[in-house]
Amino acid sequence: MKKIYLDNAATTPLRPEVIQTIINTLENDFGNPSSTHSFGRSGKTNVETARKTIAKHLNCSAQEIIFTANATEATNWILREMVKNHNIKKIITSKIEHHATLYTVLNLQKEFGIDVEYVKVLPNGTLDLFDLERKLDSEIPTLVTLMHVNNEIGTVLDLDRVTSICQKYQAVFHCDTVQSIGKVKIDLDKTPIDFLVASAHKFHGPKGIGFAFIRKNRIMQPMLFGGEQEKGLRAGTEAVHQIAGMAKAFDLAHEFLTEETDYITDLKRYCIEQLHNNFEGIVINGENTFYNILNVLLPFSEEKTAMILFNLDMKGIAVSRGSACQSGSVKPSHVLAEFLSEENTKKPSLRISFSHYNTKEEIDIFIESLKTI
Ligand code: PLP
Repeated sequence: MKKIYLDNAATTPLRPEVIQTIINTLENDFGNPSSTHSFGRSGKTNVETARKTIAKHLNCSAQEIIFTANATEATNWILREMVKNHNIKKIITSKIEHHATLYTVLNLQKEFGIDVEYVKVLPNGTLDLFDLERKLDSEIPTLVTLMHVNNEIGTVLDLDRVTSICQKYQAVFHCDTVQSIGKVKIDLDKTPIDFLVASAHKFHGPKGIGFAFIRKNRIMQPMLFGGEQEKGLRAGTEAVHQIAGMAKAFDLAHEFLTEETDYITDLKRYCIEQLHNNFEGIVINGENTFYNILNVLLPFSEEKTAMILFNLDMKGIAVSRGSACQSGSVKPSHVLAEFLSEENTKKPSLRISFSHYNTKEEIDIFIESLKTI
């Protein structure tokens, strides 16, 4: 059975060149970057070259990139640091953020008693930026944390508008770019984001490695205490092979950005067309969504919700849920619940997410399999 992977918003397969880079590093560059001998210096060079590669594509300076285990770790560190040591009294976010943000914010609210407000979600799954502006007040030290591309429905935040609103009210802006980075050009010289977080496994790199962009005027306290690694901000011996693999993945993502964007955009268009041709009454959740994420409401009965993913999985097809199925009962996704009617949140929704490794033939097989359910 040929397996079909249409869950690239969850994680992505590694590019062969990335695997090769990781193997090469493991084989030939095992030195500890903190050691002063040639083995160590080579490891250090590898780490610093990776940092420069990432910074070059984001048009920022290498010192502004801090390697972390993943985006969750980076978000936890940054938000906590801003509240604990930078006098942030209020956080504005939205109910459709990833739990890495939502639960961090809730914990900070509990621990530090900060004020938390949620930007209104519009019926098309985007955020009401007039509401964001209404919630801002220059007198209260505020941090805004909003994701660039929503991981469940693919709606896109207007970064230019949000950064200019934040500047107008002197609010700090933290952006979760996990789903967009490496898939769209981000120029940090032109876009005044204060903090950005990323995970390598979302752009065909390895798991267990990510990075934070910390704009140079932001002075941070360490996330972990110990050695001098990462300017003393995140102590602990660097995972050189993962860092090198991430930089390779980031470099390749940018090298092939235009052609892969065009290819995936066409795949998504084809998938939508085929879904409409084969299922009457199919609805796309979210408007103007990102080119690799498609969330659809299927015109199937509620009872089928629990069975769809299971049946597709039996056929070797991996897609993701729109509604979480837990021990027989169906719990709506916290994102869909924010803007779909109660009736529609109970109906089966699927998230189909593409990469350049997918083909139209795979989409045909997916559609045929869906028809048999
Ligand atoms: N933010 C978004 C938008 C995501 O999609 C994810 C992962 O699914 C995360 C944050 C967390 O990423 P990680 O688990 O790699 O830390």
